[in-house]
Amino acid sequence: METATLALAAEPILKEQVALVTGAGRGIGRAIALELARLGADVALLSRTQVQLEEVAGLIAAMGGKSSVHPADVTDPSAVDACIKALPRLDVLVNNAGITRDTLLLRMKDEDWAQVLHTNLTSAFYLTRAASRVMLKQRYGRIVNITSVVGQMGNAGQANYAASKAGLIGFTMAVAREVASRNITVNAVAPGYIQTEMTGLLDEKVRQALLGQIPAGRLGEPEEVARLVAFLAAPGSGYITGQVFNVDGGMVMRP
Ligand code: NDP
Repeated sequence: METATLALAAEPILKEQVALVTGAGRGIGRAIALELARLGADVALLSRTQVQLEEVAGLIAAMGGKSSVHPADVTDPSAVDACIKALPRLDVLVNNAGITRDTLLLRMKDEDWAQVLHTNLTSAFYLTRAASRVMLKQRYGRIVNITSVVGQMGNAGQANYAASKAGLIGFTMAVAREVASRNITVNAVAPGYIQTEMTGLLDEKVRQALLGQIPAGRLGEPEEVARLVAFLAAPGSGYITGQVFNVDGGMVMRP
């Protein structure tokens, strides 16, 4: 039974496809890159830290997969355009790169606001604009934007982050409407609290308080987010667009 399930899961449904994952060097982006590669995609790995991308590329090569390394800053539109132009085609784009600069509103500097909005939201505009040029010509594409439960419910100390993630949801829905007729889907995935470097910085008190808000009673794993992203990135998910899907252990529930 176990073997049969694994064999089915490894069906290379993304074979011959090229996927670009931003923030692929660690955390959720790394797990997404590995999962897309496992399903047969040739994965373009993008972040600022080349050594982390090379480590992920090594893991993909070890499993017999293909990837390419693109050290770049997602806040630089010319770097983003150059990366996409260097790819032979582009079937899947995952806008995952993101940062936090947490502080209460009254202490928030212009720079804290601008950096978070630029990295988390404006970057998705740059990447999606460049990617959709290619996807519209191909008449095929799958775009997944990584938002957050914080963009749906807010969080004290994260006005900048919440605004960027809520903005990403509006962006997802608007672009989904523009490109739907060309067989391009655009969806958002909203993780709750996932075990990564970003959440590793939380102190024990905050962590315990958080656990009380999560019906599942634990943080999620990056692989649990990656599985849903891979589902949305698959050719068979063509009738799902403009949606937001939570992977949050039950934190946000809506009818
Ligand atoms: P990490 O901090 O572990 O990883 C973030 C990734 O983004 C790194 O690879 C980083 O690489 C890259 N990145 C950051 N800024 C830039 C930039 N300017 N240009 C290119 N790459 C950049 O974060 P997570 O894996 O935890 O988070 C991934 C995404 O998931 C983010 O969008 C985050 O907001 C979202 N999310 C995370 C949650 C969590 O609990 N962890 C919950 C909800 C959403 P480098 O610094 O080398 O450039």
